[in-house]
Amino acid sequence: MQELARLTEAIPEEAQRLAHWAWSLLPFDAGSRLHWSGLIAFFLLGTAAWLFARRQGHAEGKGGLADFLIPRSMYFSRSSLVDVKVYFANKLIEPAMGIVTSGVQLGLVIAVAKLVGGGVHGESSGALPWTVLALATLLAALAGDFAYYVTHRLHHEHPVLWPFHKLHHSAEYLTPLTAKRNHPVYELIFGFVSALFLAPVMGVIFGLFGVYDTATLLGLGVVILAFNAAGGALRHSHIWIDYGPVVSRILISPAQHQIHHSCAVKHHDKNYGLIFAIWDWMFGTLYVPQGRETLEFGVADAAGVRQAQVHTSLTSAYLVPFAEAGEALRARGTSSRVMAE
Ligand SMILES: [Zn+2]
Ligand SMILES: [Zn+2]
Repeated sequence: MQELARLTEAIPEEAQRLAHWAWSLLPFDAGSRLHWSGLIAFFLLGTAAWLFARRQGHAEGKGGLADFLIPRSMYFSRSSLVDVKVYFANKLIEPAMGIVTSGVQLGLVIAVAKLVGGGVHGESSGALPWTVLALATLLAALAGDFAYYVTHRLHHEHPVLWPFHKLHHSAEYLTPLTAKRNHPVYELIFGFVSALFLAPVMGVIFGLFGVYDTATLLGLGVVILAFNAAGGALRHSHIWIDYGPVVSRILISPAQHQIHHSCAVKHHDKNYGLIFAIWDWMFGTLYVPQGRETLEFGVADAAGVRQAQVHTSLTSAYLVPFAEAGEALRARGTSSRVMAE
């Protein structure tokens, strides 16, 4: 009987989880970069850019607002169709990946909490003092952002990892959905690195206060909300929003991320950051634009020439990276044997 009671209790929980996942497919998901706050900022900042282009007499401001914000040639391109397919396919496997990475994260957090607090507190007031909440929010943002920088840079610099991030860069047009054009292997590695970097912050606060939380507003983390409001959704777009030479050393602007996607040689391996530009600044990978630049997006060779598209379908988007990573592994094996001889 008890088992039956437990089962009936568990069913609504499962149904809730399923409903939450279905909800997360829509751009209203609280944790998503496609949250409505980002889409509103996309529209408002995009409109401001269109008005500016019109006033300056630029060719791109000559057409209507809808054509400027969402050009059909980009949004209905083959490249953008692959974005859509990868987005929905990733959604199908996301719950399984989430269980693995959140399990690792939980284990690490508990281990750190036990070290700091001598054991997880049985009782807590249920809320953090606001100063601790503010500190936790800042530290979690810095830790998560640094995890992104490390994962991202590793994928660019390691030939075996690069094919799994190359899918993101093979987009020939940037739309807000391109942010989600990531290979599951990249997502999984990012999940593990995030767990590793966030666990100390979460564990110390949990160990000391028996509760962990970060500041939220409108049902969204304040850092993500600020990121969205500052035009986070425009990072993957053709719309140039530049924060200027000073702020661009602290925060990565949409223009700086577009530069990260550029084929031009001078832009290669620059601007790895997500929110903060400080990591790029510290480690010498920052590129601050000195004015409007015309960019071509895609994967380019060392001479800056765009390479032929290899991710033409969902199947090739998922499988080609494994084949290319295998080739890179074999090439490394051959070169290390030659070195040894
Ligand atoms: Zn990249
Ligand atoms: Zn990108």
